[in-house]
Amino acid sequence: MSDATLPETASIAVQLARVQARIAAAVVAAGRPADCVQLVAVSKTYPASDVLQALHTGQRHFGENRVQEAAQKFPALRDTYPGIRLHIIGGLQTNKAADAVRVADVIETLDRPKLLDALSLAADRGGRCPELLVQVNVGDESQKAGVSRADADGFIRICVARMGGRVTGLMCIPPAADDPGPHFAWLASCAAHHGLLELSMGMSADFEAAIQYGATHVRVGSAIFGARVPPL
Ligand SMILES: *Cc1c(COP(=O)(O)O)cnc(C)c1O
Repeated sequence: MSDATLPETASIAVQLARVQARIAAAVVAAGRPADCVQLVAVSKTYPASDVLQALHTGQRHFGENRVQEAAQKFPALRDTYPGIRLHIIGGLQTNKAADAVRVADVIETLDRPKLLDALSLAADRGGRCPELLVQVNVGDESQKAGVSRADADGFIRICVARMGGRVTGLMCIPPAADDPGPHFAWLASCAAHHGLLELSMGMSADFEAAIQYGATHVRVGSAIFGARVPPL
């Protein structure tokens, strides 16, 4: 039977299992300890029914780009599926900070002082603070979010001084045209320099390379849920 004739449930479960197997193989190849890499299933643009199928396989970490979409899909699932960890991985406007703090377990896109102010204020008011990752624009691409390489050290220091242990790591999206390896290596050394343990790097196209360079979280969407229309 070809994949095309399998029911949707089988398809997402099968793809998840394939990605998990590739992660496990990359971890072994890198000589890293088992279970050191968390798969974040990126469910942006896919319906809650697809998230449910992933939940049924035991998947618990999910990534969403937009706070509003995350708020529509996830709160209703939390009671039934304990252990859900929702990561906000898209650029965050300051006026969405309060909603993000309410809905997210991890915000991976802290990249500027104004957003730090807004998240800090929202966390104080809401009485909860998600885990925070600083996004670095490793390719210094004008269209991409993230603090520049040049400003990363200073900004990370400010974030840690302000939010303490809630700042746990760094995140990046290398330029699509580049070999991602040197970008991943740079992010890993920057995190080590600051004593930060979490590294969110690697997507469908390059997660195995990211694992080789020390990723602790890989953000994988299309390899699990299929092609997005329109791509985002
Ligand atoms: C969409 C997205 C992903 C997942 O991309 P795929 O290529 O579908 O795996 C990962 N990280 C971020 C920040 C994204 O926006």
